[in-house]
Amino acid sequence: MKKHVYLFGQGINEGNASQIDILGGKGANLAEMSSLNIPVPPGFTITTPVCNTFFKQKSINKTIKKNIVQSLKTVETTMSKGFGDIKNPLLLSVRSGAKISMPGMMETVLNIGLTSKTIPALIEKTKNPRFVYDSYRRLIMMYSDVVMEKAEQKNHIQIRAKLENILDKYKKKHRVINDYELTSQELQHLIKRFKNEIKKHFKIEFPDSCKEQLWGAIEAVFKSWNGKRAFQYRNIEKIPHDWGTAVNVQTMVFGNLGKTSATGVAFTRNPSNGDNNIYGEWLKNAQGEDVVAGIRTPNPINESSKTTRTKNSQTLQKNWPNIYKKLIKIKNTLEKHYKDMQDVEFTIESEKLWMLQTRKGKRTGEAAIKIGIEMNDEKLITQKEVIDRIISKNIDEIMHPKVDPELEKINTPIESGLPASPGGACGQIVFTASEAEEWHKKNKQVLLVRHETSPEDVQGMHVSQGIITAKGGMTSHAALVARGWGKACIVGCSNLNIDLKHKTVTINNITYKEGAWFTINSTEGFIYDQKLNLVKSNFFKNKYFLKLMSLTNKFKRLKIRANADNPKDASLSKKLGSQGIGLCRTEHMFFDKKRIRSVQKMILSKLSVDRKNAIMELLPYQKNDFYKILKEISPNPVTIRLLDPPLHEFLPSQKNTELIHSLAKNMKISSKEIKNRIIDLFEINPMLGHRGCRLAVSFPEITEMQVEAIFTACGKLINNGINPNPEIMIPLVSTVGEFEHQKMVVKKIAKKLNKKLKIQLKYKLGTMIELPRACLIADKIAERADFISFGTNDLTQTTFGFSRDDIGSFIQDYFDNNILTEDPFKTIDQEGVGQLVKIAAKKAKKSKPNIKIGICGEHGGDPKSIYFFNNIKLNYVSCSPYRIPIAYLAAAKASFRV
Ligand code: ADP
Ligand code: MG
Ligand code: MG
Repeated sequence: MKKHVYLFGQGINEGNASQIDILGGKGANLAEMSSLNIPVPPGFTITTPVCNTFFKQKSINKTIKKNIVQSLKTVETTMSKGFGDIKNPLLLSVRSGAKISMPGMMETVLNIGLTSKTIPALIEKTKNPRFVYDSYRRLIMMYSDVVMEKAEQKNHIQIRAKLENILDKYKKKHRVINDYELTSQELQHLIKRFKNEIKKHFKIEFPDSCKEQLWGAIEAVFKSWNGKRAFQYRNIEKIPHDWGTAVNVQTMVFGNLGKTSATGVAFTRNPSNGDNNIYGEWLKNAQGEDVVAGIRTPNPINESSKTTRTKNSQTLQKNWPNIYKKLIKIKNTLEKHYKDMQDVEFTIESEKLWMLQTRKGKRTGEAAIKIGIEMNDEKLITQKEVIDRIISKNIDEIMHPKVDPELEKINTPIESGLPASPGGACGQIVFTASEAEEWHKKNKQVLLVRHETSPEDVQGMHVSQGIITAKGGMTSHAALVARGWGKACIVGCSNLNIDLKHKTVTINNITYKEGAWFTINSTEGFIYDQKLNLVKSNFFKNKYFLKLMSLTNKFKRLKIRANADNPKDASLSKKLGSQGIGLCRTEHMFFDKKRIRSVQKMILSKLSVDRKNAIMELLPYQKNDFYKILKEISPNPVTIRLLDPPLHEFLPSQKNTELIHSLAKNMKISSKEIKNRIIDLFEINPMLGHRGCRLAVSFPEITEMQVEAIFTACGKLINNGINPNPEIMIPLVSTVGEFEHQKMVVKKIAKKLNKKLKIQLKYKLGTMIELPRACLIADKIAERADFISFGTNDLTQTTFGFSRDDIGSFIQDYFDNNILTEDPFKTIDQEGVGQLVKIAAKKAKKSKPNIKIGICGEHGGDPKSIYFFNNIKLNYVSCSPYRIPIAYLAAAKASFRV
């Protein structure tokens, strides 16, 4: 028979970390920690399949119930306590735990087993009535919320908020600031009021039976798997809905037992910047939910967890150095064992340290890279593991914009808070998650400003540029979720006064309305009441990033080139590591204000000689452009694509009489003539029209001019002792004839210039493959070409017959109906377009084994597509400059993931 319940703690460990599928992350790692001799309060885990059966049968079946009762007996024996015992009562926590952590998404109920029978016993035993009643009021608050309201789907009652409200009012009236200052009498009074409130809304008494509490909580945790917010979160994170959650039933340890007790959370390394220092927060005389829920702003556990705002707070390190040392020892044990940074929860009961959870810690991109590199230095992981672990999102993130430092110098922040997730963001402020969603739908950029966030807010948080909260610490819900997404976030700005009714926030006596522009620097925690410019970050000075790049370079096989059309981008791409330019589009050079006139004259001229004269006006410009780009990139290759777009793109629109007029004057012809020519050039389907090499067949003088510009630039470079490597690329070839035609033109110019410049020009001639027909005759093209490069954007358009500019209007329907799972313009369609590339590459290599084959187009910077291109053994991919680091990473991963 299948095992459904697994014991853990105090020497009995039936599960381990590899059973995460059935025990969930929390359960599996509780067992694993316990096996490492780390103190874990004993308990047991009910497996995820039980959750799924529970949903089918609507109840927990008898055999499993029996198993649970048996396991509870073992825990009671281990603890020498009894659940419901009237002398020495055992209290339990019931905790959810799915395979992947879903921060704060699901439910936990603490202090289960407190009843009119056990309360006196526990008071007698601990001699601490305040502690017992504090635990009881917590049980009431959590249980009524999780079990009586949410699990029963009575979500309109909002009992938690009602009870919090009673508590807050009571505290205000009695001038109590912190929960832990409430006396035993005051707590008893509150408990009475809580129970009345519960009865009023649910029409039943708060359960006074241990067993009822326990089964109620277990079932509620199962049900929380299908709660609305958990469901939404899984959709965003693409977590399957059929995984189910495990339930952990565990002996309670008490952080609220008085001055020698506490609770806290910690990361074994700094999750924001990756520093190898334990980083966390703690609260004296509290239970864990206080820290996680952001109800009280906690204290830093050590010096390195301090921020400007907490610089005078008490640390665990100073307060209890011995316990702190134990925590450091556990950090080392955990990191050695898991070989990764961990996120832990702990509780100190009467100066004894207990570990309650460990999991892989979420971290920023910057931290991920630093931790990876340093763990390799510490010999915890191999170089390949470093590469395997870093994801493209990490790199994306460190390249994220920041608030322009120059602007920060001259502006003063209106307020500061805890820098929970680094970066910069700018947007219009809104105060609820639903407003954030609505504004986002209207294409507005918003900053979400909240008291604190809760799991109900995730959707709105997701669409916001950044998040600001008034309450909470570095491990509050907002902080955790934002960091996971790499979203800018500031928490704990206690001076924010949000008025939800009037939709305003008042900060230091100034009131801002919804829609006001704010900017945040969440690396420092600064808030500005203006729209400040964001700038790209200076990541290429980050030494860990540079080390990562050199590691990826060591493993990758594919070369990474950049798409760059001007000297500036070329230089940027070089800085980012490009190994050449894979696509330099020349038409952008034509659009320049000074040059477009000549282009237009060329197009409108009737006589070939006029046309030639006009086009030759462009020669000096083009020569200069090519000179600068080649100079920047040499000796690496630069693939220059000859003119590609249809001519009408260079002409004024028919309606632009003013432009037509001035053009006519300039060319000494009538406006009418120009208009007629524009009408002539109009194409029904310009994407498939008179463009690419077709244009060059009609007007070879364009190719002549461009090639002359390239070669003259090369001549000048060679004279300056530089070694240029131009690769001339003929666009949109579909027949061998087209290629031959253009090849002749290029050869003719080369010969002319060799003679004129008295040098032997070195160049490669190839074609861009972007039509299915070209793929099918790639062997014949390859016989005549030095290289081929797949223009996968157009190849996708021409293979699917989708227009890239229109697909946006219907692609969602394709996703919704499972016709497509990915946008083929983002990730290469391996089945169709990818097959064509594969066939063409194979054919090309058959006729010319050492032909160079590359990719230019968006897919060259897409990790999934890069895996594919690596596997079909292409030579290089080319992508936009800022994608280069991601392409390096993907190419390195691809080289050992085949
Ligand atoms: P989540 O998955 O939302 O973090 P947990 O199950 O980890 O929920 O519980 C939240 C907090 O409750 C924990 O951080 C811990 O402080 C407290 N807690 C859970 N179980 C126990 C226990 N057995 N004893 C003491 N505190 C507990
Ligand atoms: Mg937890
Ligand atoms: Mg094209």
